[in-house]
Amino acid sequence: MMPKAAANIRREQRTLARFIEVYCHDHHEPAEAASIPLQALNVQEIIGHVPVLCTGCAKLLAHALVKRQNCPMDPKPMCKHCPKHCYAPAYRQQIRKVMAYSGRKLVLRGRVDYLLHLLT
Ligand SMILES: [Zn+2]
Repeated sequence: MMPKAAANIRREQRTLARFIEVYCHDHHEPAEAASIPLQALNVQEIIGHVPVLCTGCAKLLAHALVKRQNCPMDPKPMCKHCPKHCYAPAYRQQIRKVMAYSGRKLVLRGRVDYLLHLLT
């Protein structure tokens, strides 16, 4: 079994992936993501499946997964309340759009559990 902190990180990374996938599916043309380079991350292992994303969203996902993995804040605050703002500005803007869109959509579907760990 993973230590609790590691399990939390993993769960939040999967939530991030879910949000980005929902957003990408509705806005872009997701590709066979197995062919998208993701900064040598084993994304499939982290999120439990091969993500289906366009190239831009795949890069965003890689950025988000690395940032979550390396977050030095303990306990981690919600990102919007964090003094550090570790995301690169362009990615930060992008993830906020993703969170707003996918958050609303998943709430409407009754998937409020996804909101428990809203990251932006
Ligand atoms: Zn996309």
